[in-house]
Amino acid sequence: MFASEAYPGSAGWVMARLDALAAFTDEPGRITRLAFSPSLDSANAELIGWMRAAGMTARIDAAGNVVGRYEGLQPDRPALLLGSHLDTVRNGGRYDGALGVVAALAVVERLAKAGERLPFAIEIVAFADEEGVRFGGTVLGSWALAGRIPEGWRERVDGDGVRAEDAVRAFGVDPDEVPAASRAADPPFAYVELHIEQGPILEQENCGLGIVTAIAGASRLLVTVAGQAGHAGTVPMALRRDALVAASECVLAVDRLSRDKGAVGTVGHLRVEPDAVNVIPGRVRFSVDIRSGDDAERKILLAEIRKAFDAIAVARGVGLAVEITSDTSAVPCAPVVVEAIGDVLADMGLPRLELASGAGHDGIAISSIAPIGMIFLRCVGGVSHDPAEAVGVDDVALGIEALERVCRRLGETSTCL
Ligand SMILES: [Zn+2]
Repeated sequence: MFASEAYPGSAGWVMARLDALAAFTDEPGRITRLAFSPSLDSANAELIGWMRAAGMTARIDAAGNVVGRYEGLQPDRPALLLGSHLDTVRNGGRYDGALGVVAALAVVERLAKAGERLPFAIEIVAFADEEGVRFGGTVLGSWALAGRIPEGWRERVDGDGVRAEDAVRAFGVDPDEVPAASRAADPPFAYVELHIEQGPILEQENCGLGIVTAIAGASRLLVTVAGQAGHAGTVPMALRRDALVAASECVLAVDRLSRDKGAVGTVGHLRVEPDAVNVIPGRVRFSVDIRSGDDAERKILLAEIRKAFDAIAVARGVGLAVEITSDTSAVPCAPVVVEAIGDVLADMGLPRLELASGAGHDGIAISSIAPIGMIFLRCVGGVSHDPAEAVGVDDVALGIEALERVCRRLGETSTCL
């Protein structure tokens, strides 16, 4: 099946398996593997087969995650957890998530082929529900493994009206048994994830790999601007209270202030009412997403943005209301893992490039039970969540090498053992 592979655990071996996983989709011609979907079930079954072939025990846990274990020389020691997720967004790419799972498998494959075991077990997890697209937010997966199941998850409904608890049941997961997936009482000594960067920095800096220092915190706002609708032809410009013009100034303010702060600010969804060509917009609603690896910086930026919005509202004679719809803190990566990755990159003769992850990851949940760290891998054009996602095979080779070395390094240096 994988005739082109150079040797087990190589970058070519990983790329061939990522191509194989891409065939598991619920939308022909695209890669769509939503949480608890039939295609994810099939991909999981394939992964479990690969894990067993590599000498691991493998199972689906009580929350629908795949968990494989390559036993260590001292079975009583806490395990090192590697992994990522196999679910995707709709019409996603073949590397976001899957790369981290298969690269971890390559590390175990290499150890197994060499007949080597580390002092501790390596466990590989493929989280079931990272992307959060099906139920409007992550419902299980890494949160269940961390013993922190989101409240009200059962009642969440997907776009087809399927309740989350029915979706997991159809997936073979008993909703009542989900808490049994918790590893809070038996935590790994560290969690390390290799993931595509989902951004352009590594490419710009000409680096194959980067060290993630933190997973950014995010504030989301829903802003409503209320002006005065009226006939486009009859209200003089001087008397207008145009909600869209005011909102446009707000969009520019978000962009300018975020740039000034070195943070990331985005206006996404924007709705204009009435939706007509000959009426002055009377009401506009838009979302703002602000992210930073530094919580204090994000709070200052948020305050500046709100102040700018208020000034714009006064100047334009419109009403303006801001609702904060979510607010999550940044999650720093553990210094012990960051240092281990830094040491490994130095040993490999690679530059030490540190960056924050703007996107959320399973590590946010796992950080509550174990020190976490992430290695980012350069992706072409910074593109993710898209069929155009691409990585270089040489970078994948570096990623596998780094991950294997980090396993050994953490075994030597971790104070958690
Ligand atoms: Zn991902």
